Amino acid sequence: MKLIEHFVGGKIIPGSSEKKGKVFNPATGDQEKEVRLASKADLDQSVEIAKKAFDEWSLKPSLQRARIMFKFKELIEKNSDELTQLIVEEHGKVYEDARGSLTRGLEVVEFACGIPHLLKGEFSENVGTNVDSWSMRQPLGVVAGITPFNFPAMVPMWMFPIAIACGNTFILKPSEKDPSCSIRLAELLKDAGLPDGVFNVINGDKEAVDAILENKDIKAVSFVGSTPIAKYIYENSAKNEKRVQALGGAKNHLVVMPDCDLDGAVNGLMGAAYGSAGERCMAQSVAVAVGDIGDELVSRLSKKAEALKVGPGMDKTSEMGPLVTKEHLEKVASYVDLGVEEGAKLVVDGRGLKLQGYENGFYIGGCLFDHVNKDMRIYKEEIFGPVLSVVRVKTFEEAAKLINDHEYGNGVSIYTRDGDVGRTFASKIQVGMVGINVPIPVPMAFHSFGGWKRSLFGDSGMHGLEGIKFYTKLKTVTSRWPSGVRSNAEFIMPTMK
Ligand code: NAD
Repeated sequence: MKLIEHFVGGKIIPGSSEKKGKVFNPATGDQEKEVRLASKADLDQSVEIAKKAFDEWSLKPSLQRARIMFKFKELIEKNSDELTQLIVEEHGKVYEDARGSLTRGLEVVEFACGIPHLLKGEFSENVGTNVDSWSMRQPLGVVAGITPFNFPAMVPMWMFPIAIACGNTFILKPSEKDPSCSIRLAELLKDAGLPDGVFNVINGDKEAVDAILENKDIKAVSFVGSTPIAKYIYENSAKNEKRVQALGGAKNHLVVMPDCDLDGAVNGLMGAAYGSAGERCMAQSVAVAVGDIGDELVSRLSKKAEALKVGPGMDKTSEMGPLVTKEHLEKVASYVDLGVEEGAKLVVDGRGLKLQGYENGFYIGGCLFDHVNKDMRIYKEEIFGPVLSVVRVKTFEEAAKLINDHEYGNGVSIYTRDGDVGRTFASKIQVGMVGINVPIPVPMAFHSFGGWKRSLFGDSGMHGLEGIKFYTKLKTVTSRWPSGVRSNAEFIMPTMK
């Protein structure tokens, strides 16, 4: 069985620990690989290597760092079939969706190619007589990224292209459920000319994560995953004096106004609720039907949900693949049981789906609940599967209050033809990423990605200018080049006369 090891100092290295995790192919349910899980000693050793690499890498002119990014971009494009297949084999999502997620990661590399421009500072001449002042952004040192299973290429690529382009060195701890893509990206970075030790991948579980949090030489931690772990990362990074951004879970609403293009809303909801089997932090898992639109919305959604083509990700005709593991499948199915117990109306039941030839795969069909209310756990909690809940409300104000009262605030969307409603929604809603007649409002690489409330702990989102700011520290220099008369000692605060 293939064993996935760590990538440190420019090469694959076996870890010191005997601990291993299982990596499944969700389409068949077979365990095809195992992954080495790092010990604290493995992590600490990789940090030593990254720390040494920082000395030279941080001094490299930013244009040279950008050129490596350009080469990396080319190599990702050249190897995109292989990378996509790795995502499908270990995550399960359908091929074109996996390719799309790789492209969204690639766009961050493209953004990082502009690093010489992005790192330009500010300059003020003559802030005092013959005194000039300028500011510049400098790298932090060794930084780390801890990533979830659901985007094995894209989420790591939200982080490391910008971090290393800024002059930092990086330790990535990917999800132990689908680690191969990260190792392949590390190899491609090396082929692109990245010096050894600048980008390292440590596979592992909680032990490796705790070692990251405790290591004094790691200056910043970027995390994406579930809310309880995000909070843990945030608290412990701060306790250990690290800069931190920790993105958590979500429960996203799509508001369907009675005046909207209903076909557009239904199609938007189908892709946003069931795409990637609902394993997206930006999945729209709640449809809020406003006014009298509920019956027609549920009728159209149910027909489409029943017709969803579920199958292995490598089958180009599949619209939705399996879930990532058997445990996750059981968790999602138990939420469907719970919804029934709580009194929601299960309009489409995807439980117990068995595919011929793939009987052991981790499949569930699309599920649709109607008459869900705000007190139900299936409304309050993140299910992270293909389960769409319809909540019916009378007015736009009621819809907005529902969303604003929810503990999560990652993404949200509204379908309407009324510009006033759309504008009011964008302005007043307490959510970080908003769509208007757009189902999944994921910002492009040159904007920043991040939710509000318990969907993000910390001050900055991922990529865009927020990413540049997160991975650099600001230095401001004030200088004078005196000629002739030297001034006497001054014991008062200097001020402008
Ligand atoms: P997870 O929180 O279980 O795992 C994320 C990372 O944390 C993994 O690398 C894992 O090894 C590590 N980890 C898990 N348990 C840990 C523990 N007890 N102590 C320390 N580290 C631990 O998340 P997941 O199941 O891999 O991913 C799904 C979650 O990620 C969902 O909640 C989803 O909403 C969220 N997510 C959020 C965003 C966002 O941008 N807000 C994006 C993608 C995914």
